[in-house]
Amino acid sequence: MKIAVYPGSFDPITLGHLNIIKRASRLFDKVYVCVAVNSSKKPHFSIAERVDFVRRVTGKYGNVEVDSCGGLLVDFARERGATFIVKGLRAVSDFEMEFQIALLNKKLSPEIETVFLTAEEKYTYLSSTIAREMAMYRADISKAVPREIVPDVLERLALDKE
Ligand code: ADP
Repeated sequence: MKIAVYPGSFDPITLGHLNIIKRASRLFDKVYVCVAVNSSKKPHFSIAERVDFVRRVTGKYGNVEVDSCGGLLVDFARERGATFIVKGLRAVSDFEMEFQIALLNKKLSPEIETVFLTAEEKYTYLSSTIAREMAMYRADISKAVPREIVPDVLERLALDKE
């Protein structure tokens, strides 16, 4: 059984993240999405909101489970029997940081392999930051975040701006 974890802050989940989850769900028997509680970036959405958004948009994938995670990623993986960490790569700018993290995780847990999936071309420019900026200015965010969460993201970020 090939089990993977896909970590991120998902603040909020974007179509780019969802595309990686969909492809990972085809590659692995089980995918655990790990929503980071203590992201180094200060999150805009609460952990409960971020987990709820990811659960709502991944419900259609039978082998995807969503959890929050507060500790070390390799511990989260080990507890679930996962031997793969999935990461999405958008651009060269993602690479240096991801390379460092992958080497660190390899040191911490040599049995876990990090696997990189390249972002689909149409999503390479997308980030949670861009989705939030668009929402704050009431732009059409349906090309940035999954449609199931569009109204909630818009409402929450418009409130923040007031
Ligand atoms: P962000 O970098 O947008 O704040 P996260 O920290 O939640 O996002 O990222 C989680 C993972 O998803 C990382 O591996 C990141 O490289 C990947 N990722 C983020 N946005 C995209 C995208 N548009 N397409 C593919 N992968 C992405």
